[in-house]
Amino acid sequence: MTVSQSPINVGILGFGGLGQAAARILAPKQEMTWVAAADHQGFLYDPQGLDPNQAIATYHQHGSVGHVTGQGHLSDTSITDLVQKAQVDGYFLALPNLPNTFMADVARDFIRSGWRGVLVDALKRTSAVEQLLALQSELAEAGITYLTGCGATPGLLTAAAALAAQSYSEIHQVKITFGVGIANWEAYRATIREDIAHMPGFDVEKARAISDEEVAALLDKTNGILSLENMEHADDIMLELAGICHRDQVTVGGVVDTRNPKKPLSTNVQITGRTFEGKISTHTFTLGDETSMAANVCGPAFGYLKAGQQLHRRGIYGLFTAAEIMPLFVR
Ligand code: NAD
Repeated sequence: MTVSQSPINVGILGFGGLGQAAARILAPKQEMTWVAAADHQGFLYDPQGLDPNQAIATYHQHGSVGHVTGQGHLSDTSITDLVQKAQVDGYFLALPNLPNTFMADVARDFIRSGWRGVLVDALKRTSAVEQLLALQSELAEAGITYLTGCGATPGLLTAAAALAAQSYSEIHQVKITFGVGIANWEAYRATIREDIAHMPGFDVEKARAISDEEVAALLDKTNGILSLENMEHADDIMLELAGICHRDQVTVGGVVDTRNPKKPLSTNVQITGRTFEGKISTHTFTLGDETSMAANVCGPAFGYLKAGQQLHRRGIYGLFTAAEIMPLFVR
């Protein structure tokens, strides 16, 4: 069903690795116009649309999109100020979840602000998604349609598992294995810190507190490689909430190479179950090795934002996960 509608005005909160990739992805889209962004020092707004090249160049040169001449504003309360000023239909929250309560705090700020629209995040931790679940009725009352866990994992791979599960009468295991290759860790600081938080001896607070030099020293010890097993990833709670399996049946692990854009292994999800005839089988969905983390996170995030916008237009508000809504392709 295709209904022609005016383009969705989109804002991007957080303008690091994912935020910048998101701006570039939106540039050629007809169904979405990128009109707003915020980072920790400022914000950028133009209802006519923004130029990703100018915003990215300014961010790299001066440290904030607030320095873009004419459209930028410096602010210590950039998200609050932007939300008050801008006409935005939906925001992609490309923000670090450091501390682990940050995204839920941002959601509460949106609820308090009186803004109505669509929010999409790429949250990773189960405990972070649980905090949003507690806000379900407040989001609904505020007229916000919030889609959580809409990156790659959780996100694209969780949705693939939900789809693959349809062949089975009973699900035995969902096993997610990711490979990420990035040229340097500084391009995705929050992502790498949040990954370090899963390593033995670390937690979110410790990973947040260490200096950039300590992160670099830690990566030096492993030649830039992070190997992660049995991670606390919200794919588990999302598949449980969707009624597909128990959270204990979902495992997530992977390898991140912070010094090489080539993936160290092919990202995949394996879904094992029993068919109605009693056959045990495994479906495997493997991402193309040429696709980057940014493509596999930001693409789905906007697909879910489009789906969220359709729900919002129909008056359907509240909290949804990537495992229960089909993302819509953005033209
Ligand atoms: P980054 O460190 O590169 O950038 C973070 C941005 O947020 C910066 O622009 C910073 O200025 C801004 N920011 C920080 N605090 C802010 C505040 N209080 N107000 C406004 N802006 C603020 O981050 P990244 O590597 O792009 O990662 C973003 C998030 O995406 C992380 O939480 C990461 O875990 C998540 N992620 C999810 C997936 C997935 O598959 N689900 C994959 C990769 C990354």
